[in-house]
Formats: sequence, structure tokens, C-alpha cells
Amino acid sequence: NRSLYKNEIQYGNFLGLVSHEYFHLWNVKRIRPIELGPFDYDNENYTTMLWISEGFTSYYDDYICQRAGLISSDRFLDLMVSNINSIENMPGNKVQPVSEASFDAWIKYYRTNENTHNTNTNYYSKGAILAMLLDLEIISASKGTKSLDDLMRVLYQKYYKKLGRGFSEAEFQKELENIVGKKMDGFFRQYVHSAEAIDYPYYFEKAGFKLNNLKLGKKDVGLGIGTSTKDGKTVITSVLRNGPAWKYGLNVNDELEAIDGYKIASDLNQFLSAKQAGDTLKIMVNRDGFLREISLILEPYSSSSFRLEALPNPTDEQMAVMRKWLGN
Ligand SMILES: [Zn+2]
Repeated sequence: NRSLYKNEIQYGNFLGLVSHEYFHLWNVKRIRPIELGPFDYDNENYTTMLWISEGFTSYYDDYICQRAGLISSDRFLDLMVSNINSIENMPGNKVQPVSEASFDAWIKYYRTNENTHNTNTNYYSKGAILAMLLDLEIISASKGTKSLDDLMRVLYQKYYKKLGRGFSEAEFQKELENIVGKKMDGFFRQYVHSAEAIDYPYYFEKAGFKLNNLKLGKKDVGLGIGTSTKDGKTVITSVLRNGPAWKYGLNVNDELEAIDGYKIASDLNQFLSAKQAGDTLKIMVNRDGFLREISLILEPYSSSSFRLEALPNPTDEQMAVMRKWLGN
């Protein structure tokens, strides 16, 4: 749709898509997990490393646009932060390691269901975040002389060109450690093979940035559901783990008939915006043809909205990392 390109942000997103697919000519087609080759298009391939194949490509797709001057550094950072926001607000990210999300891609990723958000993480966004953190780690450890690019070049030269094959995870880790100059077991244990909370300040501080959660200490009021409205019917399509709807027993596929006696259509959010924590709602749902009324007390719940801010007085080291990373 060519009219979309009149909007600069949407045009930038389109360029990101193009550069994503183009980057796959290297990362996946040539630089690849050993399990993926030789390519077999008839059978499923299981690998725990799609966070590298898709995640690193997701990182580089926007990064290349920034480096080519097609999008600004601010826009690039916004895109990185939107990855963080989407991952940090996904309950499944707190329970599923990204290596497992990768391994299960064949049975899960392209077959999402109503509980996906609660049980799965996304190896595109999470992988892009991990790529960024490793980039910052390498730039900082090498005092601005190396970056993630150097790791990609080693993987290309050594495994694709010289050995004519992909790399194992142990080999990937070894090459990374050679460049960083230290053991990276902790990174793999915490962020790849388990779902531990990411220590963002440790990484962003290296480049003179601080990640602020604008919603820290604030709470949202809502039901914690996703809905879709079709033919005048509003149906619950997902229930957020530990949200109010989850606690009071609203289910996926329940049709919302009325709240406090009012017919609910697409104006659900508008209706809820006038409510506050502690209010009791009487929710009438149609569950498989049976009408049920559920009393629900609105509770505040936490979500995150991050913003990246430059530290006021960056050190020379931080400036050097920032320059290498963002080129200005
Ligand atoms: Zn891709």
C-alpha cells in the first residue's frame, strides 16, 4: 500500500522489513546454527538458536537503517525500547527461556493460542534485545574497537567460509568469549537458558544511558483481557496471568454481554476508564450459551513503560561506547 509510505515512521518500518529479509542472506543463509544445514525444506529442524538467527536479524534490521542514515538514532533507540516494552509486558517472558521458545517454534510460534502471551516469550524481540546487550558488552570490553559486527564476521569467515557448516551453541559462545575477553556462562545461563530478569542498567550504563520505567510505582486499572468484537459481539480472546479477569474466573471465549447492566460493544476501554481500583463490576457473560454473572473487584496491576534517557554527565568511556554504537 503505497500511501503508507507517506508517513515517515511507517516508511522506516517498511525499510526495516526489507533490511531484515536482506540481512538473512548472511545471518541464516550463511551464518547459521549447525542444526539448520544442509537446508532440508521437507522436515522440521530443531534448534535452540533462533534467538540468534531471527533475534540478531531483528536487531540489525533497524540498526542498518540507522547506520545508513535512513532513520535517526533517536528512532533506532525508540525501536529498541519498544522491543523491551513488548517483552517486559509479556507474562510468558518471565517463565519461558528464549532457547526453549526457539526449540518449540515448530509446534508453538506459528500456532498461537489464547494462552501464548502467558506461557511464551518471543525470540525475535527477546533475541534483538540480547543482540543489543552483547553489542554493548563487546564495544565496552574492547574500549570501542570492536562490536557485534566482529562476532558476525568471525562466524561467517570461520564456520561458513572455512568449515562450510554452521556453528554449535558452544562454538558461538566460545567465539563471543574470545571477542569480549571473558567468560559468558552467566549470560547464557540467565538470559538464554532461563528467564531471569535482565539487568538493563548494567548494559545501558556502558553507553551513558539510563532506562526509566515511567510506570514505576503506578498501577493500571483494567480487566487484564484482550477482546475482539465481531458482528456486535465482544469476545474475550486472552486473559492476562494474575490480572483481575484471571483471578475472578473470566475465560477465553466468554462473550461479554453487559457490565453493570450496560450493553458492552467496542466501548469497553472507554467504560473502564471511568472506573477505579476497588470498584465492583457485575459482568454478565455468555459462556457456551449459559448466562453467568461474575462480580469482580477492580484491582490495580503493574505494567511497564520504559524510556531511555541519556545520563547528564557521561564519562569519556561512556562517550566512546556511545559513539561506536550510534556513530555520533
Ligand atoms: Zn526473519
